[in-house]
Amino acid sequence: MSLPAPRGDLAALEGYHSPQLDVDVRLNTNESPFAPPAAFVDSWLATLAAVPLHRYPDRGAGALRAAIAAHVGQPPERVFAANGSNEILQTLLLAYGGPGRRALVFEPTYALHAHIGRITGTGVVAGERTADFRISPTEAGLLIAAVRPAVVFVCSPNNPTGTVEDRATVEALLAAVLDHGSTGPRAPGLLVVDEAYGEFADFSALALVADDRPLVVSRTYSKVWSLAALRLGFCVAPAPVVADLERVVLPYHLSAATQAAGVAALAFRDEMAERVGALVAERHRLTEALGRLPGLTVHPSGANFVLVTPATDGHAVWQRMVDRGVLVRDFSRWPRLTNCLRITVGTPEENDRCITALRESLEES
Ligand SMILES: *Cc1c(COP(=O)(O)O)cnc(C)c1O
Repeated sequence: MSLPAPRGDLAALEGYHSPQLDVDVRLNTNESPFAPPAAFVDSWLATLAAVPLHRYPDRGAGALRAAIAAHVGQPPERVFAANGSNEILQTLLLAYGGPGRRALVFEPTYALHAHIGRITGTGVVAGERTADFRISPTEAGLLIAAVRPAVVFVCSPNNPTGTVEDRATVEALLAAVLDHGSTGPRAPGLLVVDEAYGEFADFSALALVADDRPLVVSRTYSKVWSLAALRLGFCVAPAPVVADLERVVLPYHLSAATQAAGVAALAFRDEMAERVGALVAERHRLTEALGRLPGLTVHPSGANFVLVTPATDGHAVWQRMVDRGVLVRDFSRWPRLTNCLRITVGTPEENDRCITALRESLEES
């Protein structure tokens, strides 16, 4: 062989796949169906025109952190921004995971928590959920005591099930992490709540973040803010945790263009709140319409997507929907998600096409 072998522990890893097909209606990746407001693009480009491109960007992303801090009602010292919340998760694991440490996830959940865990050499332990996809605080507490994880991931609303964890569950997990952490003598683990869809839900853990609590809440501009192409996410964390993240992240990782976009977007929070309202209303409409289809279970969701379980072969239903020009996400062969399909809430027209395609696909089976 004339080429080197990668790290041995990477051999078993597969890359992250989310197949794209060329169809009319794409409801498979949980993006916003709305482009950002034109006035946002104008304002961003105007700022960009004045950026000295031959200089490195602001390494501490000061203006962006201040704008996000004001938006979430937390001090800037508790804000860390990165290239998508995926880079947030990676940076957290680089700082707090790694060989000899463990991360705990509750399956089924966002695949990248475990994936990034493995890439960073962190041991990944999978906990289970209840039949209605919730995290049981009692079971989770026992598991945390047994595993002593350095990082516990909770996704709320959970991708792909839509489940929202309540305040009592988050507080119970926090108490368990404080009692049974493993990051050093008497040092707790870290509870990371991934709120990529937090704006669509009725509970957020953001207000619980404080400097003396091992809690991190991550958010993204990819969904609500209609900026998936830009790659911008942030977390709110105790100030000392933010300082640890800054020690491991690459210098100048966040481009001037991305920082400027993040600041500019926050001036459009009223427009974004309107869009969130419209998507939540469509989620209710979609949930009700699908709930009337025979042979289909619809799971309650606090996000901009809905998980459904056909009573028959889910993959066949998915294929018949594709044949009708509607692409949803096929989870039918995933462990714990047998026959499940995840539908992103789109525009009213897209949702109508989806309802019809799903009804016809179920009738054919
Ligand atoms: C979409 C998604 C993200 C967003 O990742 P970005 O890197 O910010 O685009 C994070 N977490 C979950 C659970 C998601 O579904």
